[in-house]
Amino acid sequence: MENFDKFNLSSDIKKSLKNLRFTKPTEVQSKTIPFAIAKQDILASAETGSGKTAAYLIPLIQQIKTKQNVLGIILTPTRELAQQVADVAKLLVGYKSGINIALLVGGSSMNIQLDQLKKRPKIIVGTPGRINDLISRGSLSLRNFNFFVLDEADRMLDMGFGVQVDKIVNNLSKSKQTLLFSATLPKEIIQLSKKYLSNPKRVDIEENNVIKSQIKQKIINTKTEEKYSKLIDELSVRNGSILIFVRTKYATEKLKKRLIKDKIKSSAMHGDLRQNKRDRILENFRKERFRILIATDIASRGLDIPHIEHVINYDLPQIPEDFVHRIGRTARSGSVGEALSLVTKNQSKMWKSIEKLLDQLKKPNKKNKHEDTKQKNYEKIENNSDNKSVKKRYRKRKKSRSKSRKYHR
Ligand code: AMP
Repeated sequence: MENFDKFNLSSDIKKSLKNLRFTKPTEVQSKTIPFAIAKQDILASAETGSGKTAAYLIPLIQQIKTKQNVLGIILTPTRELAQQVADVAKLLVGYKSGINIALLVGGSSMNIQLDQLKKRPKIIVGTPGRINDLISRGSLSLRNFNFFVLDEADRMLDMGFGVQVDKIVNNLSKSKQTLLFSATLPKEIIQLSKKYLSNPKRVDIEENNVIKSQIKQKIINTKTEEKYSKLIDELSVRNGSILIFVRTKYATEKLKKRLIKDKIKSSAMHGDLRQNKRDRILENFRKERFRILIATDIASRGLDIPHIEHVINYDLPQIPEDFVHRIGRTARSGSVGEALSLVTKNQSKMWKSIEKLLDQLKKPNKKNKHEDTKQKNYEKIENNSDNKSVKKRYRKRKKSRSKSRKYHR
C-alpha cells in the first residue's frame, strides 16, 4: 500500500489528509480502512501511536460523506483522549463541511454540550459517564447512531466502565457497525467482542510501535533516599519537554513542591483535579509554556504531544504494560526520545517483569506470547473448579488491582 488512493476516499478527506501530511497509511490504517468502509465490524489490537484514531475516523467520515443517515459515536476512557479524538475528527472533516462534532465529557459545562447537541452532531466523541448522564436526562438519544467505536477497550474495562458501556450500547441503533480497538486482547476483551461484534475482521499489528521507535532507554539503580537528588542531576542535563511519572496523586503534588523549593518550575496532573484545570495544564504543556509535567498513569495512555523528549519513571508503574504506554509518550511519530527509569531495590521485581515484557515485545513473533501466557494463567485458574481458594484469591487480586489503579490515577 503506497498511499491513500487505493481506498477511493472522498476528495474532501484526501484534502484533509494532505493538510495533515498523512501521505501513507500506517499498518493499522491499511488493515482497517477498507473493511470498515465496507461496513464490517472490526476487532483491532492496536495502541496509541499506531495511527488507530484515523483508522476508525476515516471510514466513519467517508461513510458520513457518501452514505445516507450515518451517525457515529466514539467512546474513550479518558476526557483527554476524547478531546484529542475530537480534534483529529475536526481536522479530518475539514472546515465548512457541515458535519458537526460534539465532545461530551465529564467535568465540563453541561450547557455548552447541550448547545452542541442542538446542532445535531453527526459525530459524538465522549466518555461513558457524561454520555449516560445526558441520556438519562433525556437530552441525548442515540437511537439513530449506527457507527460505534469503543476505543482503548482494555483501559475502559480496567477503569470499571463495563456497565456504563453496556448501557450506551443498548441505546444505539440495532443495525450498527461496531469497531473495537484495544491495546491488549485479554480474555475479558475477547468476551466483550463476542457480545458486541458480529463476524468481526481481526486486525493485528505485527510490531509494537513503542518498541520499534527511537526510544533510548536509561536505567539508574538507586536508593529511595537518593532518588530525588538523582532526579535533579538528570533534569539539569536534559533539554526539551519532560514528563515525569509517579505512583500516586499525592506524590505528583509533593514532587512539584520539592522542585519549586529547588527553583524548578513544573506542573502536576492527576485525576483529582477539576477537569478545566486538567485541560489548562495539558494545553499549557502542549504549547510549551512550561517544560516539566509530573503525572500519574492518567497520562500514560493516549497523549500525543510531539515535543516530549524525555519520559522519566520516578516511580515504576504498578503493572508492566503501563511502562510501555508511559515511554510511548516520547518519540512520537518517528522522532527520537529518551526514557529514564529510577529503580530502587524494592522495585527490582517489577523492573524484572518490565524487562521481560520489553524482551517479548521486541520479538514480533513472540509478541502475543505475553498475552497468551497471561490468558492461559487466567484460564487455568478460572477453569480449575477444584482449586476454589486459588480462584478466589485470583479474583480478589484482580479486584483490588483495579481498585488501587483508580486510587493512583
Ligand atoms: P494515534 O495512534 O491515532 O494516536 O496516532 C499517533 C500519531 O500518528 C499522531 O500524531 C497522528 O497524527 C500520527 N499519524 C496517524 N496516521 C498517520 C499517517 N498515516 N501518517 C503520518 N502520521 C500519522
